[in-house]
Amino acid sequence: MTTPAKKRIKPSAVVIGAGVAGAAATLELLNAGIGVTVVERDSCVGGQAPRFGCKATDACQHCNVCVAQEQVRKAFGPDSGARVLTDTQVTQCQPSADGGGVELLVTSGRGRQTRLRAAAVLAAVGYEPFDARILGPYGYGLIPNVVSGLDIERAHADGRAALTRPSDGQPARRIAFVQCVGSRSEQAHRTPEKTNYCSTVCCSYALRMGRLAQHLNPEAAVTVFYMDVQCFGRDFAEVYAACRKEMDFVMARPYGLQARPDGTVAVRYEEQAGGQAKEAEFDLVVLSVGIRPPAGGAALAEVLGIPLDEYGFLGAKSVLCPEPGESPRIFIAGACDAPRNIAQTIGHARAVAAGMIRLCEK
Ligand SMILES: Cc1cc2nc3c(=O)[nH]c(=O)nc-3n(C[C@H](O)[C@H](O)[C@H](O)COP(=O)(O)OP(=O)(O)OC[C@H]3O[C@@H](n4cnc5c(N)ncnc54)[C@H](O)[C@@H]3O)c2cc1C
Ligand code: SF4
Ligand code: SF4
Repeated sequence: MTTPAKKRIKPSAVVIGAGVAGAAATLELLNAGIGVTVVERDSCVGGQAPRFGCKATDACQHCNVCVAQEQVRKAFGPDSGARVLTDTQVTQCQPSADGGGVELLVTSGRGRQTRLRAAAVLAAVGYEPFDARILGPYGYGLIPNVVSGLDIERAHADGRAALTRPSDGQPARRIAFVQCVGSRSEQAHRTPEKTNYCSTVCCSYALRMGRLAQHLNPEAAVTVFYMDVQCFGRDFAEVYAACRKEMDFVMARPYGLQARPDGTVAVRYEEQAGGQAKEAEFDLVVLSVGIRPPAGGAALAEVLGIPLDEYGFLGAKSVLCPEPGESPRIFIAGACDAPRNIAQTIGHARAVAAGMIRLCEK
């Protein structure tokens, strides 16, 4: 007599955060036959990137926003196979009694609680854009024609005139981008985390936006105040080379912005070469805000029992490189681990998902 074959229970994973990192990982897990429950704090999926605009001029500028939108649509669309819980957060996490997984308690905004069991859990909770109001001398929130990179990304995506003067709706002819706002600076230090790291995304989104501004308004002149330009991504070197010909690059970190009665903005800076104090006038100043650790990241790390790194990101070495023999069940992917652009985020999430799949298949 033959004994009936034991039915294999489908392994399952929980993905926390429905941004592009969560989407890329979810697609890998689903493809491997793993059941996925996605826990998203917000009332809708997608995170930051799908809410940005296409930066194509006559040609595609390879900003990858459409790639992020596609990943999110595929992973969380009605036919994806993933179970998506929006407006929900993880409130408890503990190893399961049999040691073969993790048990989570998730709570919705209305207080509804659900228990989940998973072989592996992924935290993909993203980042917080730097809040430029912290840097008082830049006058963000007070000077109408000083905006942030996030403002113009979202306005452009919504079809609003992103590169006009908010004060009067007139086209901006002289546009300045101020780089490294909230990055690479002790000035924006917020105890206990440091901010002296490069956010990796703001050189590329700012220069692509600058090119788009000149494409939409051929009379527009763009000036970039920078420390150095970080060329991340395969296609960016080409964009940067073109920008060098089309824009003014001033190696300086402005120390103050001031509104003029006619709505223009005076930018005060000290040129690195020569150390001379200077002032220049613009119709619109864009602060290229960087990437900060996710809001609520510390609370989530506490629930999951994982440490933060020195900057406040979730990617502490002890989580990513466990001791030999240890088998971690909590994984970290995307911008909550370290600043990353869309392509880097997708690549990282796929690699991390491969580790989760190996664990689920054990
Ligand atoms: C101004 C600006 C412009 C940019 N432009 C570009 C660009 O043109 N091209 C490019 O390649 N990159 C760009 N980037 C970078 C891009 O936004 C990131 O690479 C990408 O969004 C990272 O995806 P993510 O999924 O890791 O994080 P996120 O997009 O932040 O998604 C994280 C998700 O997790 C959710 N979440 C957070 N906390 C919790 C929690 N506790 N529980 C459950 N869910 C939670 C959030 O609601 C969100 O849905 C830009 C960044 C900035 C700041
Ligand atoms: S990669 Fe960016 S610029 Fe190119 S089509 Fe997609 S959204 Fe537009
Ligand atoms: S990517 Fe560019 S603007 Fe952003 S922090 Fe790095 S050097 Fe500064």
